[in-house]
Amino acid sequence: MTIQELESRHTSGLYAKRDIALVRGEGALLWDSNGKQYIDCDSGHGVANLGHCRPEIVKAISEQAARLVTCFESYYNDQRAQLLEQLTALAPSLNRAYLCNSGTESVEAAIKLARFTTGRAKIIAAMRGFHGRTMGALSATWNKNYRQPFEPLVPEFTHVAYNNVEALQQAVDENTAAVLLEAVQGEGGIHVGSDEFMLAAQKLCHQNGAMLIIDEVQSGFARTGKMFAYQHIDGLVPDFLCVAKSIAGGVPMGATLIGPRVKELQPGLHSSTFGGNPLSCAASLAALEIFERENLATQAAEKGEFFLNCLRQIQSPLIREVRGLGLMVGLELKQKIAPYIRALMDRGVLALPSGMTVIRFLPPLVISHEQLALVAETIQAVLNQPVKDDN
Ligand code: PLP
Repeated sequence: MTIQELESRHTSGLYAKRDIALVRGEGALLWDSNGKQYIDCDSGHGVANLGHCRPEIVKAISEQAARLVTCFESYYNDQRAQLLEQLTALAPSLNRAYLCNSGTESVEAAIKLARFTTGRAKIIAAMRGFHGRTMGALSATWNKNYRQPFEPLVPEFTHVAYNNVEALQQAVDENTAAVLLEAVQGEGGIHVGSDEFMLAAQKLCHQNGAMLIIDEVQSGFARTGKMFAYQHIDGLVPDFLCVAKSIAGGVPMGATLIGPRVKELQPGLHSSTFGGNPLSCAASLAALEIFERENLATQAAEKGEFFLNCLRQIQSPLIREVRGLGLMVGLELKQKIAPYIRALMDRGVLALPSGMTVIRFLPPLVISHEQLALVAETIQAVLNQPVKDDN
């Protein structure tokens, strides 16, 4: 029996599967069970910013696993203490952090704590936004295919057009608990939040006593050329910053960073059994050390420019637009992208969809220029070949 057959026997059925079994990774490369090699521009949906199987992460996990894996946050812990210190130093003025296990949990906490702080219910999110799948984060998520099967969702969530200042001005009022925005919309097609829009959101929140929640689950940790994408915008300081994905070098972890406008939090208000466990904290400490030592934000900025230029040189009538920030890149086609993603995989490049017409590239930030150039060549080849659209 193949891996695919065995997994299919008892899987939930919740995931659209690609017919390969990935069994090994190193840097920006992955290998399947037949030994075929891929350049990874998926990174496990934006997790592997540091590349796969970094020896520093392997060492940190192994050593911590032999020392202490679990320690509920009602006890202090050396790894957690150090991580809180270092994590909050990355986002000046957000000097508290709630540690959890995933992106959706980090958003969920921000929503709850914004409601707690303001005593209000209304949350304003953006069209095309994606914030996760638990009920609160899902209520802020735009795609109706994700939402409708689970309605009724949490009440008092509304959506405005992203990058539309006027729409935001009309929506935010004295009943607003929070405005919740991605700094760069990932799942919604790679749209960068404009300075004007993000700063208007901040101003409206301050004027109306509401909280600004910035979701950097996908755009965080050097992906866009800064440690966090909001740091591209002078003067922008969120009240909550939601992060996860690559925070701990691939080990599951999330965090909600919390600013001074948020009310003092009391014991018991919110918690998580696994949140802040020493294993994830040790992995994250090792990850943060690599981000800094290898200056991965600068690498992402420079390689992102290089890759965008490679993509802009591709000659094809199928391309509508190339856009991105750092190594968070979208290639929008004039038609459905599913067959092209499959054709790329057949030729050894793993990429992600972002809606129906955008191919998303989230490579590890350690990817080489040669590998990026090869990805661009492969895209050119795939766009020139006839593809089978059986979706
Ligand atoms: N927020 C954003 C911007 C995301 O891209 C994602 C996942 O892709 C999430 C939240 C949810 O993260 P998770 O899948 O870890 O719950």
